[in-house]
Amino acid sequence: MTHAGRVDVAVVGAGLAGLVAALSAASEGCRVTLIEATARPGGNARIAAGVFIASDSLAALRAYVPDGDPALQALFVAGYPDAMAFLEGQGVPLGTLERAPGSRVLRPMGLGQPGRRDAFVDGLVERVRKAGVRIRVNSPVRSIEPAGGGYCVRFSAAGDVCASRVVMATGGFAASPDLLAEFMGPGAAHLRRRSLDGAAGDGLRLARSLGAALAGDMAAYYGHTMADCPLEVDQWQPLTPYFARLGILVDRRGRRFTDESASFLEEANPQAATRAGIDRYWMIVDERIRTGDAVEVGIAQRADWLQAACAAGVPLVVADSLAGLAAQLAADGVDGDALIAEVEGFNAAVRAGRGSALAMPRTAAATPLERAPFYAMRAVAGITATCGGIAVDTDCRVLAPDRQPIPGLYAAGVDAGGVFGRTYAGFLSWCAVSGRQAGLSAARAAPRT
Ligand SMILES: Cc1cc2nc3c(=O)[nH]c(=O)nc-3n(C[C@H](O)[C@H](O)[C@H](O)COP(=O)(O)OP(=O)(O)OC[C@H]3O[C@@H](n4cnc5c(N)ncnc54)[C@H](O)[C@@H]3O)c2cc1C
Repeated sequence: MTHAGRVDVAVVGAGLAGLVAALSAASEGCRVTLIEATARPGGNARIAAGVFIASDSLAALRAYVPDGDPALQALFVAGYPDAMAFLEGQGVPLGTLERAPGSRVLRPMGLGQPGRRDAFVDGLVERVRKAGVRIRVNSPVRSIEPAGGGYCVRFSAAGDVCASRVVMATGGFAASPDLLAEFMGPGAAHLRRRSLDGAAGDGLRLARSLGAALAGDMAAYYGHTMADCPLEVDQWQPLTPYFARLGILVDRRGRRFTDESASFLEEANPQAATRAGIDRYWMIVDERIRTGDAVEVGIAQRADWLQAACAAGVPLVVADSLAGLAAQLAADGVDGDALIAEVEGFNAAVRAGRGSALAMPRTAAATPLERAPFYAMRAVAGITATCGGIAVDTDCRVLAPDRQPIPGLYAAGVDAGGVFGRTYAGFLSWCAVSGRQAGLSAARAAPRT
């Protein structure tokens, strides 16, 4: 075994959180090694829609994500401007600040423009290298052991690195069927992954082996309603029906199972399916919703979506009447009569302004489904990122069950659990904020080599 030597800070995982953590630690004068399992740094940021979402106040964030940790949420809101300024200072492409409904602020790094996402990530990787960080690719970390007042990080049969401080940034456990089943129960078996396979829960396992506590709702995740058909990675984002919250979602019984409008990015909808153990469900919209004539601005992709979905072979049914739609869905195993009754009941309630009084309430975006053609897509719950994870404090120090920091251990990005819950307000922004915090905290605490 070769020893890569001793460094001040080792960062495990080179997604956005790890890149920002490594760069932040290096900018404080530390010797930093960044260890990445795959051949290419960048992680999920390369395939994301690329919008740095945040809330413009803690009150707004608390109102939208009431089950998140208030202290981490305060860090998220307060740290966002600094994290964005830090990224801007690296010369990577960032759009301007926009305001969106729900007191949200957005900074795109290239919505719908994959080239710009790569330019952003490649630019950041370049800055990390120029800052003197050694990036070890193709080096999945297998174990981390306390050694000499720090840690020995073993990343392959051929190498290890000893570090005074270690930052875990491996992206959560969305790609670990075992951990998903452990924390989410039987409904997890029906999940379709909508993120890269790197997020296999290594950070969680490694941190647990060092005594870390877990934090947040371990069954909560950020995800989307996803077409029930094979999709290529580069189809995940363009084929996401972000507008699903405007239509209705029904199960095989033809019944709605969630308040579709409860989350801005419809991220609560797939979770409702998972919690109820639903394997398949159907998104139903009408022409007004598809074209965007009906309600709400700010949700992209409605008009383009149908064309893209048809081209991709998405299981889509189109009909000129509700009865026609129900008949086609009956052939797919849906109770057609119950579906018609459900839509009629829904339409009557929302026309009367009584959506909230429905047995399954509809609290917002209440538009009747009444303009032909009608569309239905067979869907599955897609998981992008887990919301529960390693317990951290506001310095991103990893915490033991007694809430005391574990010396020298930090976590950032999706690995750091608890900032979001059943609703979410931007993982890219959380990666930037927590990555920066973890990198700075680790650097400032590390005895220099
Ligand atoms: C289609 C899609 C669209 C999205 N759109 C948005 C959006 O617009 N806005 C937003 O805020 N969020 C969005 N997200 C979510 C966001 O992109 C991710 O949550 C975020 O990029 C995660 O960053 P991370 O650094 O925490 O983890 P990751 O990007 O998952 O990086 C973790 C890295 O750690 C590596 N790793 C794992 N295990 C090990 C190990 N044992 N040793 C070494 N390395 C390891 C992995 O290979 C990976 O490179 C989207 C995600 C997807 C998939």
